[in-house]
Amino acid sequence: MKIKAIVLKGQNVKEKDKDILLFSLEEGKIWVKFKGVRGEKAKMKYSKEPFCFGDYFVDDNSKIVTGVDIIEPFEELSKDIDKYFEANGLLEIVNTLNFDSERVPIFINLIKALKILAFHKASQYSVLIKFLIDIFDIYGLQVYSSKCTSCGNDFHDHIFINYSVGELCCKMCEPFIADEIKKGEYQILKLLSQNEYEKLPTIKFSKELGFGLLKILVKNFQYRFEKKLNLIGILDN
Ligand SMILES: [Zn+2]
Repeated sequence: MKIKAIVLKGQNVKEKDKDILLFSLEEGKIWVKFKGVRGEKAKMKYSKEPFCFGDYFVDDNSKIVTGVDIIEPFEELSKDIDKYFEANGLLEIVNTLNFDSERVPIFINLIKALKILAFHKASQYSVLIKFLIDIFDIYGLQVYSSKCTSCGNDFHDHIFINYSVGELCCKMCEPFIADEIKKGEYQILKLLSQNEYEKLPTIKFSKELGFGLLKILVKNFQYRFEKKLNLIGILDN
């Protein structure tokens, strides 16, 4: 079979072989095997590295890769440590989730997110935050709202995220399991919810505000999906 896929991770097997976890448009997550890793052309080397995007030709029974047409290796992501950690976070999210019908929109968003990270200059964490916001949307768990989701009134001075439902509410509604969202963090949440990936390079915010919002969304991810995200180099836990 021929599948359009992105490499999520790999592990060496025996001396020369390597198992790779692909995220494919057609099959979702699938483990495949590369035989005889050593002594290859540099181009083939990329096809086993995380972030590599290409057409993978896989034997249906043995799951051995018989050929790869690389579409985009995204090697830029390995040359900048901040971009690398953020891109790695995207793969960690995909790696952590289980999906069926969500597969196609997640795949398309991942490609868009990697392209912005690799080839544009966007505020730190904006791509990762946007990806998380869209993940919640895809699963019908939208976070952003312009009014309190509990009483329907304006937020006034304080905005909270209610982790028991993953929605925003005002101070009057006194959510039980909640964190306050700063005004600046709320603005980022709004902008990234209402703009597409192509707009990210034009949306500027500080690393501190981005980090604050990212922490809240990661916590919401844990409540919604009951799974921990280990964002290496960003939020180690
Ligand atoms: Zn309220």
